[in-house]
Amino acid sequence: MCILVGATGPGITATGEALLGCVSDDPYLFRTFVHVVQPASRVAVPVDGHAHVGTELVWADREDLEPPFPVERGQATRGINSQGLAFERMMNDCSNVKDALQLLEATPSVVLLADAFGDLAHVEVGGFGTAVHQRFSKEKPGLAIAVDCYQSQELKHFNDPAAELQAQENNNGCRLARGRQLAAELRGKLDVATFRAILSDHGNRERNPEENPLLKWWGYSICNHGTRKNHTYDATAPPWGSVSAEVLQPSLCALHYNYGWACGEKAEFGDQLFQSRSWSHFCTFVSPSDGQLPTGHIACTTVDGEITPEAKLFRR
Ligand SMILES: [Zn+2]
Repeated sequence: MCILVGATGPGITATGEALLGCVSDDPYLFRTFVHVVQPASRVAVPVDGHAHVGTELVWADREDLEPPFPVERGQATRGINSQGLAFERMMNDCSNVKDALQLLEATPSVVLLADAFGDLAHVEVGGFGTAVHQRFSKEKPGLAIAVDCYQSQELKHFNDPAAELQAQENNNGCRLARGRQLAAELRGKLDVATFRAILSDHGNRERNPEENPLLKWWGYSICNHGTRKNHTYDATAPPWGSVSAEVLQPSLCALHYNYGWACGEKAEFGDQLFQSRSWSHFCTFVSPSDGQLPTGHIACTTVDGEITPEAKLFRR
Protein backbone atom coordinates (compact mmCIF):
# COMPACT_ATOMS: atom_id res chain seq x y z
CA MET A 1 0.00 0.00 0.00
CA CYS A 2 1.42 3.32 -0.92
CA ILE A 3 1.34 6.39 -3.10
CA LEU A 4 3.57 6.52 -6.16
CA VAL A 5 4.54 9.75 -7.94
CA GLY A 6 6.25 9.95 -11.33
CA ALA A 7 7.31 13.02 -13.30
CA THR A 8 9.22 13.64 -16.50
CA GLY A 9 10.00 16.22 -19.14
CA PRO A 10 10.97 19.89 -19.45
CA GLY A 11 8.65 22.17 -17.52
CA ILE A 12 7.74 19.35 -15.13
CA THR A 13 11.03 18.26 -13.55
CA ALA A 14 13.82 20.77 -12.97
CA THR A 15 16.19 19.06 -15.43
CA GLY A 16 13.65 17.35 -17.68
CA GLU A 17 14.76 13.94 -16.41
CA ALA A 18 12.32 11.26 -15.21
CA LEU A 19 11.92 10.75 -11.44
CA LEU A 20 9.82 8.35 -9.37
CA GLY A 21 8.98 8.80 -5.69
CA CYS A 22 6.94 6.86 -3.16
CA VAL A 23 6.22 6.06 0.42
CA SER A 24 5.99 2.40 1.42
CA ASP A 25 3.03 1.86 3.75
CA ASP A 26 2.95 -1.33 5.79
CA PRO A 27 2.20 -2.57 9.30
CA TYR A 28 5.11 -1.16 11.32
CA LEU A 29 6.51 -4.63 11.99
CA PHE A 30 7.16 -4.96 8.26
CA ARG A 31 10.28 -3.05 7.29
CA THR A 32 12.05 -2.19 4.08
CA PHE A 33 15.81 -2.40 3.64
CA VAL A 34 18.11 -1.54 0.75
CA HIS A 35 19.85 -4.33 -1.11
CA VAL A 36 22.08 -4.57 -4.18
CA VAL A 37 21.70 -7.63 -6.34
CA GLN A 38 23.66 -9.24 -9.12
CA PRO A 39 21.28 -11.87 -10.50
CA ALA A 40 22.55 -14.95 -12.23
CA SER A 41 22.75 -14.20 -15.93
CA ARG A 42 20.16 -15.96 -18.02
CA VAL A 43 21.20 -16.46 -21.59
CA ALA A 44 17.62 -16.68 -22.84
CA VAL A 45 16.53 -13.44 -21.12
CA PRO A 46 19.62 -11.25 -20.85
CA VAL A 47 17.70 -8.36 -19.26
CA ASP A 48 17.25 -10.46 -16.11
CA GLY A 49 21.01 -10.39 -15.70
CA HIS A 50 21.21 -6.66 -14.93
CA ALA A 51 22.45 -5.69 -11.49
CA HIS A 52 20.13 -3.45 -9.44
CA VAL A 53 19.70 -1.56 -6.22
CA GLY A 54 16.28 -1.74 -4.61
CA THR A 55 14.26 -2.04 -1.44
CA GLU A 56 13.03 -5.35 -0.12
CA LEU A 57 10.20 -5.87 2.36
CA VAL A 58 10.83 -8.06 5.38
CA TRP A 59 8.90 -9.18 8.45
CA ALA A 60 11.01 -7.87 11.31
CA ASP A 61 12.38 -10.49 13.63
CA ARG A 62 9.47 -11.66 15.78
CA GLU A 63 9.55 -15.42 15.74
CA ASP A 64 6.58 -15.63 18.11
CA LEU A 65 4.25 -14.02 15.57
CA GLU A 66 2.88 -15.17 12.24
CA PRO A 67 3.13 -12.49 9.53
CA PRO A 68 -0.29 -11.27 8.35
CA PHE A 69 0.75 -11.75 4.71
CA PRO A 70 3.62 -13.63 3.07
CA VAL A 71 6.73 -11.85 1.86
CA GLU A 72 9.01 -13.16 -0.84
CA ARG A 73 12.64 -12.90 0.11
CA GLY A 74 15.11 -11.38 -2.31
CA GLN A 75 12.58 -9.48 -4.47
CA ALA A 76 12.62 -5.70 -4.65
CA THR A 77 9.34 -3.76 -4.56
CA ARG A 78 11.13 -0.61 -5.82
CA GLY A 79 14.41 -0.57 -7.62
CA ILE A 80 16.65 0.71 -10.35
CA ASN A 81 19.02 -1.33 -12.44
CA SER A 82 22.41 -0.77 -14.02
CA GLN A 83 20.72 0.50 -17.20
CA GLY A 84 18.67 3.14 -15.37
CA LEU A 85 15.30 1.35 -15.60
CA ALA A 86 13.33 2.15 -12.45
CA PHE A 87 10.12 0.62 -11.16
CA GLU A 88 7.76 0.94 -8.22
CA ARG A 89 4.98 -1.49 -7.64
CA MET A 90 2.07 -1.60 -5.27
CA MET A 91 1.62 -5.27 -4.68
CA ASN A 92 3.28 -7.04 -1.81
CA ASP A 93 5.29 -10.01 -2.83
CA CYS A 94 3.95 -13.51 -3.02
CA SER A 95 5.78 -16.80 -2.93
CA ASN A 96 4.05 -18.48 -5.87
CA VAL A 97 1.84 -17.86 -8.90
CA LYS A 98 -1.35 -19.01 -7.16
CA ASP A 99 -0.88 -16.53 -4.30
CA ALA A 100 0.12 -13.81 -6.76
CA LEU A 101 -2.96 -14.35 -8.93
CA GLN A 102 -5.24 -14.38 -5.90
CA LEU A 103 -3.70 -11.14 -4.72
CA LEU A 104 -3.89 -9.54 -8.18
CA GLU A 105 -7.54 -10.48 -8.48
CA ALA A 106 -8.34 -9.22 -4.99
CA THR A 107 -6.34 -5.99 -5.00
CA PRO A 108 -5.16 -3.75 -7.80
CA SER A 109 -1.53 -3.79 -8.70
CA VAL A 110 -0.13 -0.55 -10.03
CA VAL A 111 3.37 -0.07 -11.39
CA LEU A 112 5.25 3.07 -12.39
CA LEU A 113 8.18 2.62 -14.76
CA ALA A 114 10.78 5.21 -15.73
CA ASP A 115 14.11 5.17 -17.52
CA ALA A 116 17.22 7.20 -18.21
CA PHE A 117 15.78 8.40 -21.55
CA GLY A 118 12.98 10.18 -19.67
CA ASP A 119 10.19 7.75 -20.54
CA LEU A 120 7.54 7.18 -17.87
CA ALA A 121 4.60 4.74 -17.75
CA HIS A 122 1.74 4.17 -15.28
CA VAL A 123 0.58 0.56 -15.69
CA GLU A 124 -2.34 -1.19 -14.01
CA VAL A 125 -2.44 -4.96 -13.72
CA GLY A 126 -5.10 -7.28 -12.35
CA GLY A 127 -7.09 -10.42 -12.85
CA PHE A 128 -9.27 -8.43 -15.28
CA GLY A 129 -6.47 -7.35 -17.60
CA THR A 130 -3.60 -4.94 -18.02
CA ALA A 131 -3.86 -1.26 -18.95
CA VAL A 132 -1.19 1.33 -19.70
CA HIS A 133 -3.00 4.22 -18.03
CA GLN A 134 -0.56 6.99 -18.93
CA ARG A 135 2.71 7.35 -20.86
CA PHE A 136 4.96 10.38 -20.84
CA SER A 137 8.40 11.27 -22.21
CA LYS A 138 10.73 14.22 -22.70
CA GLU A 139 8.67 15.10 -25.80
CA LYS A 140 5.38 14.63 -23.93
CA PRO A 141 6.07 15.86 -20.38
CA GLY A 142 3.72 14.82 -17.62
CA LEU A 143 2.95 13.64 -14.12
CA ALA A 144 1.58 10.31 -12.93
CA ILE A 145 0.26 9.66 -9.42
CA ALA A 146 -0.93 6.22 -8.35
CA VAL A 147 -2.80 5.19 -5.21
CA ASP A 148 -4.38 1.90 -4.18
CA CYS A 149 -7.09 1.68 -6.84
CA TYR A 150 -7.40 1.60 -10.61
CA GLN A 151 -7.67 4.89 -12.52
CA SER A 152 -7.70 3.65 -16.15
CA GLN A 153 -10.91 3.61 -18.18
CA GLU A 154 -10.35 -0.09 -18.83
CA LEU A 155 -10.09 -1.20 -15.21
CA LYS A 156 -11.61 1.42 -12.92
CA HIS A 157 -15.04 -0.20 -12.90
CA PHE A 158 -13.42 -3.27 -11.31
CA ASN A 159 -12.48 -1.30 -8.17
CA ASP A 160 -13.91 -2.37 -4.84
CA PRO A 161 -16.54 0.38 -4.25
CA ALA A 162 -14.92 1.15 -0.88
CA ALA A 163 -11.60 1.89 -2.67
CA GLU A 164 -12.95 4.19 -5.40
CA LEU A 165 -11.48 7.68 -5.65
CA GLN A 166 -14.85 9.34 -5.12
CA ALA A 167 -15.57 7.37 -1.91
CA GLN A 168 -14.82 10.01 0.72
CA GLU A 169 -14.22 7.55 3.57
CA ASN A 170 -11.06 5.93 2.17
CA ASN A 171 -7.61 7.54 1.86
CA ASN A 172 -7.16 7.08 -1.92
CA GLY A 173 -8.97 10.17 -3.18
CA CYS A 174 -7.58 12.56 -0.58
CA ARG A 175 -3.98 11.36 -1.01
CA LEU A 176 -4.24 11.58 -4.80
CA ALA A 177 -5.75 15.07 -4.66
CA ARG A 178 -3.10 16.25 -2.22
CA GLY A 179 -0.32 14.72 -4.34
CA ARG A 180 -1.67 16.45 -7.46
CA GLN A 181 -1.96 19.77 -5.66
CA LEU A 182 1.64 19.63 -4.38
CA ALA A 183 3.01 18.44 -7.73
CA ALA A 184 1.18 21.29 -9.49
CA GLU A 185 2.68 23.83 -7.06
CA LEU A 186 6.16 22.38 -7.74
CA ARG A 187 5.72 22.02 -11.49
CA GLY A 188 9.02 22.77 -13.25
CA LYS A 189 10.88 22.50 -9.94
CA LEU A 190 10.51 18.77 -9.31
CA ASP A 191 13.80 17.25 -8.22
CA VAL A 192 14.93 14.93 -5.43
CA ALA A 193 14.49 17.65 -2.77
CA THR A 194 11.00 18.70 -3.87
CA PHE A 195 9.91 15.07 -4.23
CA ARG A 196 11.02 14.71 -0.62
CA ALA A 197 8.73 17.60 0.36
CA ILE A 198 5.77 15.79 -1.27
CA LEU A 199 6.63 12.52 0.47
CA SER A 200 6.83 14.35 3.83
CA ASP A 201 3.42 16.01 3.49
CA HIS A 202 0.90 15.82 6.35
CA GLY A 203 -2.28 17.11 4.67
CA ASN A 204 -5.31 15.20 6.13
CA ARG A 205 -3.24 13.80 9.00
CA GLU A 206 -5.92 14.97 11.44
CA ARG A 207 -8.44 12.48 10.05
CA ASN A 208 -9.08 9.44 12.28
CA PRO A 209 -7.31 6.34 10.81
CA GLU A 210 -9.83 4.10 12.56
CA GLU A 211 -12.42 5.22 9.99
CA ASN A 212 -10.46 4.04 6.92
CA PRO A 213 -12.61 1.30 5.32
CA LEU A 214 -9.66 -0.06 3.30
CA LEU A 215 -7.53 -0.83 6.33
CA LYS A 216 -8.44 0.23 9.81
CA TRP A 217 -5.72 2.36 11.48
CA TRP A 218 -4.06 3.34 8.19
CA GLY A 219 -3.89 7.12 8.01
CA TYR A 220 -4.92 9.72 5.42
CA SER A 221 -1.77 11.79 4.86
CA ILE A 222 0.89 11.06 2.23
CA CYS A 223 3.56 10.73 4.95
CA ASN A 224 1.40 8.27 6.80
CA HIS A 225 1.27 8.16 10.61
CA GLY A 226 -1.41 5.47 11.13
CA THR A 227 -1.89 4.47 14.78
CA ARG A 228 -4.34 2.94 17.23
CA LYS A 229 -2.92 5.37 19.81
CA ASN A 230 -1.88 2.36 21.86
CA HIS A 231 1.28 1.83 23.88
CA THR A 232 1.78 -1.61 22.37
CA TYR A 233 1.56 -3.07 18.88
CA ASP A 234 -1.18 -5.65 18.23
CA ALA A 235 0.08 -7.86 15.38
CA THR A 236 -3.45 -9.23 14.81
CA ALA A 237 -4.82 -5.73 14.12
CA PRO A 238 -1.78 -3.57 13.42
CA PRO A 239 -1.68 0.11 12.52
CA TRP A 240 -0.21 0.91 9.09
CA GLY A 241 2.03 3.80 8.14
CA SER A 242 5.01 4.85 6.02
CA VAL A 243 7.94 2.60 6.92
CA SER A 244 10.19 4.24 4.30
CA ALA A 245 10.25 6.77 1.46
CA GLU A 246 12.19 6.48 -1.77
CA VAL A 247 13.07 8.55 -4.84
CA LEU A 248 14.44 6.77 -7.92
CA GLN A 249 16.62 8.77 -10.31
CA PRO A 250 17.24 6.82 -13.53
CA SER A 251 19.75 9.36 -14.97
CA LEU A 252 22.15 8.44 -12.15
CA CYS A 253 21.00 4.82 -11.56
CA ALA A 254 20.35 6.12 -8.02
CA LEU A 255 18.00 5.13 -5.22
CA HIS A 256 17.52 7.86 -2.60
CA TYR A 257 16.27 6.07 0.52
CA ASN A 258 14.79 7.38 3.77
CA TYR A 259 14.19 4.89 6.58
CA GLY A 260 10.86 5.51 8.38
CA TRP A 261 8.92 8.74 7.90
CA ALA A 262 10.43 11.21 5.42
CA CYS A 263 9.34 14.03 7.76
CA GLY A 264 11.85 12.67 10.31
CA GLU A 265 9.41 12.84 13.25
CA LYS A 266 9.64 10.42 16.15
CA ALA A 267 6.88 7.97 17.08
CA GLU A 268 3.98 9.55 18.98
CA PHE A 269 2.60 6.22 20.18
CA GLY A 270 4.14 2.90 21.21
CA ASP A 271 2.41 1.03 18.39
CA GLN A 272 4.42 2.96 15.77
CA LEU A 273 7.24 0.42 16.01
CA PHE A 274 10.73 1.42 14.81
CA GLN A 275 9.50 4.85 13.65
CA SER A 276 11.50 6.78 16.24
CA ARG A 277 14.51 5.70 14.20
CA SER A 278 13.19 7.61 11.15
CA TRP A 279 15.93 9.37 9.22
CA SER A 280 15.47 13.00 8.35
CA HIS A 281 17.41 12.73 5.09
CA PHE A 282 17.95 10.52 2.10
CA CYS A 283 20.95 8.25 1.76
CA THR A 284 21.83 7.71 -1.89
CA PHE A 285 22.75 4.28 -3.20
CA VAL A 286 23.68 3.55 -6.82
CA SER A 287 23.22 0.35 -8.75
CA PRO A 288 26.31 -1.75 -9.29
CA SER A 289 27.29 -2.17 -12.92
CA ASP A 290 26.67 -5.56 -14.50
CA GLY A 291 29.27 -8.08 -13.42
CA GLN A 292 30.79 -5.73 -10.81
CA LEU A 293 29.71 -8.15 -8.08
CA PRO A 294 29.55 -11.91 -7.87
CA THR A 295 26.03 -13.33 -8.17
CA GLY A 296 24.05 -12.70 -4.98
CA HIS A 297 22.50 -10.14 -2.63
CA ILE A 298 24.20 -7.59 -0.39
CA ALA A 299 22.17 -5.76 2.28
CA CYS A 300 23.02 -2.05 2.48
CA THR A 301 20.69 -1.21 5.41
CA THR A 302 19.13 -3.19 8.27
CA VAL A 303 15.52 -3.54 9.46
CA ASP A 304 16.23 -0.98 12.19
CA GLY A 305 17.72 1.58 9.85
CA GLU A 306 21.45 1.05 10.27
CA ILE A 307 23.75 1.27 7.24
CA THR A 308 25.87 -1.83 6.82
CA PRO A 309 29.67 -1.72 6.27
CA GLU A 310 29.11 -3.45 2.90
CA ALA A 311 27.05 -0.44 1.71
CA LYS A 312 30.06 1.83 1.33
CA LEU A 313 30.80 0.62 -2.22
CA PHE A 314 27.34 1.79 -3.32
CA ARG A 315 26.81 5.00 -1.32
CA ARG A 316 27.10 8.41 -2.91
ZN1 LIG B 1 5.39 12.39 8.63
